[in-house]
Amino acid sequence: MSQRQKSSQSRVNKSRALILLPELRKPVKLKPFFPCKCFLIVLFKQCHNTRSRSILSKSETLLKTPMPTRASKNAVHNYAEKLAEKLDFEPGASLQALIKKLGGRLEISDPFAEDIDESMHVKGKRNFTIYISNFTSDRRDRFTIAHELGHYLLHYPPILKDNPKVEMKATRWVDETDKDQMRAEWEANWFAAAFLMPEKAFRAKYGHHVDIGEIADHFKVSVSAAKIRAQSLGLDIAD
Ligand SMILES: [Zn+2]
Repeated sequence: MSQRQKSSQSRVNKSRALILLPELRKPVKLKPFFPCKCFLIVLFKQCHNTRSRSILSKSETLLKTPMPTRASKNAVHNYAEKLAEKLDFEPGASLQALIKKLGGRLEISDPFAEDIDESMHVKGKRNFTIYISNFTSDRRDRFTIAHELGHYLLHYPPILKDNPKVEMKATRWVDETDKDQMRAEWEANWFAAAFLMPEKAFRAKYGHHVDIGEIADHFKVSVSAAKIRAQSLGLDIAD
């Protein structure tokens, strides 16, 4: 995942500008092929020529980077929240168990190892690995895992549909000048925030605990992640 979650306001504005493009408002029903086949969601039509970078792995397998959906922030939030509901994922529940249930696995890796630049590698449907740094906190790791899950559920399906033999690789560092890659990173962050802190549960908790630390404890996320979620829901936070 991108380590640059504290991106500049200008970058945020750039993402917002993309969302507001009128052609992005054409609704289309997409049917995610996993994990709930019957689960229909409304996303917005992919209307740009989305570019996914192709890379050849050491074994010469064709790898692609996450391809943004260009769905709006609200659509990604709704998708993540409905998915959490379908998966019976309660706030603060184990993500390790969930990843296993979805056919994935977690691996601890050294973020500074020269030969490991992956944050996620998807070899196929229900066959993916998420790499977690051995230097980060559990709560930071939870956001990372949910972010990578966002890449898997939002960005891998179009790659699979196009060519089932192509694998997807998300990297720890992304080219910040590449708008498609940055857009995919934002979408994965939106997914993670809503998946871990669904709006209804967040607002309910907020009503009882104005202290952001207590809210972060409840959802087992970092205080900064809880603050960002509160701000995105228009809630005042006391420092
Ligand atoms: Zn990422």
